[in-house]
Amino acid sequence: MKNNKFVGAHCSASGGVYNAITNAEAIGAKAFALFTKNQRQWVAKDLDAETIDKFKSMLDASGILPKHILPHDSYLINLGHPEVEKLEKSRTAFIDELQRCEQLGLDRLNFHPGSHLAKVKKSDKENIEIMKPIEDVCLDVIAESINIALDKTHGVSAVLENTAGQGSNLGWRFEHLAHIIDKVEDKSRIGVCIDTCHMFTAGYDIRTRDVYDKTWAEFEKIVGFKYLMGMHINDSKPPLGSHVDRHHSLGKGEIGLDAFRFIMNDERMNDIPLVLETIDETIWKEEIELLYSFVD
Ligand SMILES: [Zn+2]
Ligand SMILES: [Zn+2]
Repeated sequence: MKNNKFVGAHCSASGGVYNAITNAEAIGAKAFALFTKNQRQWVAKDLDAETIDKFKSMLDASGILPKHILPHDSYLINLGHPEVEKLEKSRTAFIDELQRCEQLGLDRLNFHPGSHLAKVKKSDKENIEIMKPIEDVCLDVIAESINIALDKTHGVSAVLENTAGQGSNLGWRFEHLAHIIDKVEDKSRIGVCIDTCHMFTAGYDIRTRDVYDKTWAEFEKIVGFKYLMGMHINDSKPPLGSHVDRHHSLGKGEIGLDAFRFIMNDERMNDIPLVLETIDETIWKEEIELLYSFVD
């Protein structure tokens, strides 16, 4: 199979969702991510017909395909929230996010699974025992949230992002992603996005050929590549297994460039959006060029 990579970055949609397309084109992106509303606010005004038309016609002209666009939902949403009222608020907002994607003709929405919010220290061995059921309960709630949202929307897949496992954020172990997928009724509309920084700080090493192969073999066994609908391409400031979420520019962090070279030559990552969320957006153009230069 020929190499078929679609690399881009999380582009600003400030001033209108269609501006993300212009910003993507300016850095030579073949894929991109965007927020379809202000990511730090619960409510946004609906997308009007004019905005939707403009987005669609500009996208058409750009040659970028909807399947290579990976919108990200609001950071406020927690689909595993332990409090009923806040869970409801999150579910309502998530449905709105899916509907916005649907209106824009997009087929996938990336989100962080959720947090159980019990502030348990991971270092405390006794508490790890207590945490286990809390995690399972939360994963079930997340799956239920997804089922409700998919039932109320059409055509857009819910794409779970793996996390660094900072605080009580779930989704950092492949088993968490598999647990949620297992409980989602419509398997045709659930997927995952693997963030390389999160993967690394969650404890999955990809720095050398050996560990790269081992980590992805584990991913295949536990989750499955058939669910991989996107990736976030980031280097990491904190070290392996630190559970701290801090991105870095490619080659400047703890992961180093080899892992990204492996990814760019890995056919399993073909035809999905590969999105930079690295910290210096002034070098995104160079980072995209660098990634493409890795293709053998
Ligand atoms: Zn990410
Ligand atoms: Zn992150």
